Amino acid sequence: EPIIKFSDFSFKYNSQAEANLTNVNLGVQPGEKLLILGPSGSGKSTLAKCINGLIPEEDPGDITGTGKIAGHPVGATSLFDLSFSVSTVLQDPDSQFTGLTAVEDIAFMLENDAMPQAQMKQVVAEWAHRLQINGLLNQSPQSLSGGQKQKVSLAGVLVNQAPILLLDEPLANLDPVASHEILALVTKLQAELGFTLVMIEHRLDLVSSAAFDHAIVLSEGRVVSDSDLDTLLKTE
Ligand code: ADP
Ligand code: ADP
Repeated sequence: EPIIKFSDFSFKYNSQAEANLTNVNLGVQPGEKLLILGPSGSGKSTLAKCINGLIPEEDPGDITGTGKIAGHPVGATSLFDLSFSVSTVLQDPDSQFTGLTAVEDIAFMLENDAMPQAQMKQVVAEWAHRLQINGLLNQSPQSLSGGQKQKVSLAGVLVNQAPILLLDEPLANLDPVASHEILALVTKLQAELGFTLVMIEHRLDLVSSAAFDHAIVLSEGRVVSDSDLDTLLKTE
């Protein structure tokens, strides 16, 4: 049973005349690593918003066909309801930081869940260890490097333990060294924890070292290639 499934799915933003996603067919199994590739404007972020519930939250648009995310129908499930199934990290994590220190940002969701203080300390320490950010916890998130920000941001959503982790161009603001570090860390955590990984990236060369078992390419809102990353790299 796929955890993400789109069948003849099309979407058009309210303000647009033409469809922004057209006849998308896509199945992602639990624990799979999906890479979404495609040039700017091809529909990658729109597809991401269909997965995490920003559609319908920001713009209900017009949908034909069906999409299902962990059993929830796309377009008819709120951002809040989908937040239990999908955690999202964006290319610019600054907009997601609300705390004065990194530790406050990581604890934010746990506090919302009213987790007892002692347990929260332990859970935050555990994720800080996994993300290799123990030494940064008392710093202001704004003062961190791009790679460190992504790690804090990842810790802050992974505490949620949602079955799907969605990363929308997480490497966009990083230098090549930090990009490789984040990519390696994310794929290592995925192997350990087994969540479904959906990652958006428009530069194929940056991700060619990672073993994505599923890679799709979007062009003008259509899926023009659907294979594993090795096969895609051989046909490029
Ligand atoms: P990508 O993430 O691949 O750069 P997008 O999903 O952002 O592509 O955009 C796909 C198309 O949808 C583009 O033509 C873009 O202008 C349009 N679009 C994106 N977001 C919106 C929006 N909020 N309202 C209207 N049109 C949008
Ligand atoms: P990305 O490439 O990651 O999609 P963009 O710079 O294209 O980022 O979009 C930034 C924001 O602007 C997004 O929230 C997107 O929904 C919105 N946006 C993009 N294109 C349009 C558009 N044509 N009309 C309205 N909003 C748009």
